[in-house]
Amino acid sequence: MKIKIIPVFLPEYQCPFNCKFCNVKVANGEVGIKTKRDIVDIIETSLKTINRYHKDAFVEVAFFGGTFTFGKLNEIEEYLRILKPYIDKKQVNGIRVSTRPDFFNKEIAGLFKTYRVTTVEFGVQSFNSDVLKAAKRGHSGEIAKSAVLLSKRYGFFTSIHLMIGLPMQTEDVFLKDIGETIRLKPHYVRIHPLVVLKDTQLAKEGFVAPDCEKVLPSLKKGVWLLKKNGIEVIKLGLQPTDSLNEKDSVLSGCYHQSLKHLVFSAIYRDFLKMLIEKGVRAIDISEKDLSFFVGFNGSNRDLIENIELRPHNSIERASVVVNGKKVKIFKESIDA
Ligand code: SF4
Repeated sequence: MKIKIIPVFLPEYQCPFNCKFCNVKVANGEVGIKTKRDIVDIIETSLKTINRYHKDAFVEVAFFGGTFTFGKLNEIEEYLRILKPYIDKKQVNGIRVSTRPDFFNKEIAGLFKTYRVTTVEFGVQSFNSDVLKAAKRGHSGEIAKSAVLLSKRYGFFTSIHLMIGLPMQTEDVFLKDIGETIRLKPHYVRIHPLVVLKDTQLAKEGFVAPDCEKVLPSLKKGVWLLKKNGIEVIKLGLQPTDSLNEKDSVLSGCYHQSLKHLVFSAIYRDFLKMLIEKGVRAIDISEKDLSFFVGFNGSNRDLIENIELRPHNSIERASVVVNGKKVKIFKESIDA
């Protein structure tokens, strides 16, 4: 089912922490204090578009930015209560909340259930204690694991946010983070490469984050492993915003407007190579996958010369038909 998210970005005062990589203002744009009226306006405006163009979508209002569960229970409840009339009238089907794993417990989970929160997203970043300490996250990997399991026990769709390229987060550590994520089996994962933003602690320390070329091989492996294990990767990279695109906002790291295309092109490239090595000369593919087969900026064109691609709209995404047999791209063993 198509999910339509109405994002409500909370201001940075909503978080007492100071992770070394974080600059909420640059990442999300300048976000002022959200009054009840502001939130109602955002919802009403978005619902007009959704009702016109996406009538059958599952609509979630999402609280992003800051740490939603940082405040007192009654303050959290005040935010949730704003949405109750929309939920009761079935104009909104659920609520999505993004928060820190150490600010989630049974009390909050119970409150979320009462107000029809459907999805909980956790900023985990890494499960490795050295990486978490170096980023000044202020929580351990064990706490993150417990929070994810608690959220799943309460029946929330649960998402883990991971990063790649943090100080001390080697390729080996990142792949262990992926392995831990697979063991926890969340419903979704978001991964974003570290970008050093201006005015952050990392910027002050002069830390240089790896560029896209450096993180791409690990990212490719990680995404392939997650999808092979049936875990959806719903987002790769930071959402481009005007403030991120401003000159000198991003000092280093992999900030790419089409990161998903880049990563999937690399995965499909490996798949094509494997088929060509096996002597396959023609495959039927999903029309929707064509851009991944062709590659970002045509990066796979050299391979496509050796194999005929026959796009159809009847073929499921991420699968191909080879000599009449359906093959799932993420289930195949590739050189990942
Ligand atoms: S917990 Fe989240 S919002 Fe708060 S400083 Fe860290 S990354 Fe930023």
